[in-house]
Amino acid sequence: MTRPLPPAMRESRGPVCAVITESTVDAARSAIGRAAGLADLIELRLDYLRDFDFTDPTSLSPLLKNKPLPVIITCRAISEGGIQKVDDEIRLRLLVEGARGDADYCDIEAAYYDAAAKLSPDLGKLIVSYHNFDETPSDLNGVYDRITALPAVIHKIVTRANGISDSLAVFRLLDRARIDGRSIIALAMQQPGSMTRIIGPSRGCFLTYASLERGRESAPGQPTCEELRDIFRIHKLTRDTAITGIVGSPVAHSASPIMHNLAFKALGLDFVYLAFEVDNAREFFKRFVMPATREIDWRLRGLSVTIPYKTSVASFLDEIDATAEKVGAVNTVVIRDGLTRGYNTDVEGAIQPLGSILPLGGQSCGVIGAGGAARAVSYGLMREGARVKIFARDVSRARGLAESFGVQVAPLDSLQSSDVQIVINTTPVGMHGHSEHASPVPRRALRNRLVAYDLIYNPLETQFLKDARGEGCQVVGGVEMLVAQAALQFKLWTGEQAPLDLMRRAVLEKLST
Ligand code: NAP
Repeated sequence: MTRPLPPAMRESRGPVCAVITESTVDAARSAIGRAAGLADLIELRLDYLRDFDFTDPTSLSPLLKNKPLPVIITCRAISEGGIQKVDDEIRLRLLVEGARGDADYCDIEAAYYDAAAKLSPDLGKLIVSYHNFDETPSDLNGVYDRITALPAVIHKIVTRANGISDSLAVFRLLDRARIDGRSIIALAMQQPGSMTRIIGPSRGCFLTYASLERGRESAPGQPTCEELRDIFRIHKLTRDTAITGIVGSPVAHSASPIMHNLAFKALGLDFVYLAFEVDNAREFFKRFVMPATREIDWRLRGLSVTIPYKTSVASFLDEIDATAEKVGAVNTVVIRDGLTRGYNTDVEGAIQPLGSILPLGGQSCGVIGAGGAARAVSYGLMREGARVKIFARDVSRARGLAESFGVQVAPLDSLQSSDVQIVINTTPVGMHGHSEHASPVPRRALRNRLVAYDLIYNPLETQFLKDARGEGCQVVGGVEMLVAQAALQFKLWTGEQAPLDLMRRAVLEKLST
């Protein structure tokens, strides 16, 4: 049954709901004020308040008087994720009375529906909610049937995504509610469900929750209001928006979403870039990507592919370009005309920053490391006519790479006595969270070189680069490759030149926080 929407809902300007999780009434009041400039509505989590009189509904007045946006009040039971125990009768009365007064909605858990119904809540202001912090149940339709049997103006189903496929179940629920003409909030918590929080509203979700600041989230995977508004441009997303994103694990800290989303925004393109935390790439490609088998109706345009899937995704795709084939890795997928094509922009992205400093033809280059990035760099250098020698800690393991590209291999400690002019670090040594402050080679091995290039971008200046600078080398950091390979992906997906400077600034800002 379709119900008329109450006035506050009709007036709401968009889907971003700022969740207020302050512990004092004063702080909550000030957060409500801050939310006015960032969100479209507010959820006030009363169970976070430590100095609040739950027995007296008039204690809501100082919080809700002159509220700048529609406000949902809720006071979660501990079993539903609440953070303090409030007697059920007291909290239900507070919510029902509060919604009769200044609050626009109260959110009451389905498990307490019968108890709340005895208090005759205003059904036009009632949100009835279901939370599952363990999983997304396989019978989500059954949950929907049970929850929507309880009269309310909005029904809410929030589950935990244990894998990215759980997002599909949430999207199906949104489709079902749309056909039924119901207002619904359905989303999946945790990183694998993050896409439901961002594109859910464009597919019919009534709102999406966001924190006012990083670190103040009320649930795992929640973005901030600013991220939703300024990076993902949530108010502009529709079902027709072209979807792109990064596939890998882990992806939560990737700089790619900020780079690509700000680039789409700058060029006014109706594109969005998401982060797909994937634990089974074959299943993801089957259920979300391949046009013939996918179970979601969306305009998926392109993917970035990162660790650990760069070598495995090729087998799922319709076509692979010559560079990706030769390097044996795909870092970019384009979906067009019902086909999926794999590319490798790491090769060109790695070489461009060096090529902009000096001509590479005839240069002698030493590549430290023999993994995936070393393959891309070596292939690119060879293509430019440079002479390449791989310096590896385990020469026998580097033989495959040497044979594929016809390059020489030498032990890592022989770098010092070699005459290479350009030295490139492709190992993770020196990376934040891995071995920051370490270098793969002693400083003396960098003496008398022309250029030192480190593919690591976090930290911006590694020990390897500090040493090289100290020895008078020209240095190049990994941000340049990160931006260059992303700009090439952008061009493949959109046909447009990427705004390189803006993308670089976005990465630098992200890394500096
Ligand atoms: P990978 O396939 O795991 O290869 C790593 C290589 O480093 C292997 O040859 C490994 O040697 C070697 N290595 C590891 N620890 C070492 C040590 N202590 N001493 C000497 N060699 C060591 O990794 P990858 O995908 O090539 O990535 C490597 C680095 O490149 C990462 O830091 C990544 O962040 C960076 N990268 C940056 C960009 C960018 O856009 N800027 C793009 C791609 C990659 P063994 O074979 O002996 O283990």
